[in-house]
Amino acid sequence: MKIHEYQAKQLLSRHDIPVPRGSLALTVEEAVKAAAEIAGPVVLKAQVHAGGRGKGGGVQRANSGEEVELLAAKLLGMKLITPQTGPKGKVVNKILVEEALDIAKELYLGILIDRATAKIVVMASTAGGMDIEATAATTPEKIARISIDPLLGIQGYHCRRLAFSLGLGAEERQQFMPLLAALYRLFVEYDCSLLEINPLILTAAQKLMVLDAKLEVDNNALFRQPLVRSFRDLAEEEPLEVEAQAYHLSYIKLDGTIGNLVNGAGLAMATMDLIKKAGAEPANFLDVGGGATAEMVENGFRIILSDPKVKAILVNIFGGILRGDILARGIVEAARTCRIGVPVIVRLEGTNSEAGRQILLHSGLNFIPAADLQDAARQVAMAAQEK
Ligand code: GDP
Ligand code: MN
Repeated sequence: MKIHEYQAKQLLSRHDIPVPRGSLALTVEEAVKAAAEIAGPVVLKAQVHAGGRGKGGGVQRANSGEEVELLAAKLLGMKLITPQTGPKGKVVNKILVEEALDIAKELYLGILIDRATAKIVVMASTAGGMDIEATAATTPEKIARISIDPLLGIQGYHCRRLAFSLGLGAEERQQFMPLLAALYRLFVEYDCSLLEINPLILTAAQKLMVLDAKLEVDNNALFRQPLVRSFRDLAEEEPLEVEAQAYHLSYIKLDGTIGNLVNGAGLAMATMDLIKKAGAEPANFLDVGGGATAEMVENGFRIILSDPKVKAILVNIFGGILRGDILARGIVEAARTCRIGVPVIVRLEGTNSEAGRQILLHSGLNFIPAADLQDAARQVAMAAQEK
């Protein structure tokens, strides 16, 4: 789960990691008030779950109250398009108003999990700022990395090695070492999968400070992270995915035209592979689960159909715990409540599959049966093309 920059900075503050003074504003009035409290130039920062805001115009400096008013009005409600949001962009509902600082140096720090080595990796670079992606692509040697055994934790020598690779002087090292150790502890404490500080700045007054923070927490750990859970912002999530979660369906929206409804994550992955092999693109991943009820199938169907890009649907069920007749009843019910204007190809095997096929056959609705999985993928790809 992603959280906003202002929320990440709250966590950093709790761990005594220096961040600029600032507060969140939901309206222009709140922004003006927040800036007045800071007294001096401020930076207004769009709070959306995407990076690259600086490049998209989502980070603006304001030197006076009038400028704050003008820029806050421009930012709030704007559709921010950055290299990370895709062409659709993200609507800005919140801005962070922060004291503007004099920056002497912009550094990069990233902490993440390396699944291949089962270690925590810390990356650091003097090429911090808005072009770190280009640095990683063209001059990766400018990024130093250390691997940390999670059972041993971060040690003094780790911090020293990165401090030297960043070319920090003695005074700066004194600030950097506890700061990095605190970031590492925060990473572990909140079950993060990513903590990126870009930039970590050295101010003109020689003070190290976190200017931007991107934090992601492992979804599987959310059950033990109540504070992080309270940071969830549904406005930043795909509405169809939020709805699916309410029905306990694993649904992930994708960009293709073939909707698919499958039981079991493995089978759903295999189904998407076959759709691609047949020359089409899946519109979603949807695992209704092994113990799905007719109602869950109906909801799954409705969610798939709410995506206007869907041109055909492939239902691929291998009945185990989920019986074929229950599935069929769910589909028929869904077809009655929401008008299905696209072809539906059904591949049904396993427990009570014959009973399920009979229900579909006698429903008076137009379902296309498939002989096997490959045949189903071929048919659905063809059907979508003809639409
Ligand atoms: P991102 O583009 O989404 O990563 O947003 P950042 O928070 O990293 O801001 C982008 C850039 O804006 C930073 O790299 C800085 O150069 C600049 N910036 C942000 N805050 C300040 C500030 O307080 N003072 C100055 N001078 N520049 C800032
Ligand atoms: Mn940044």
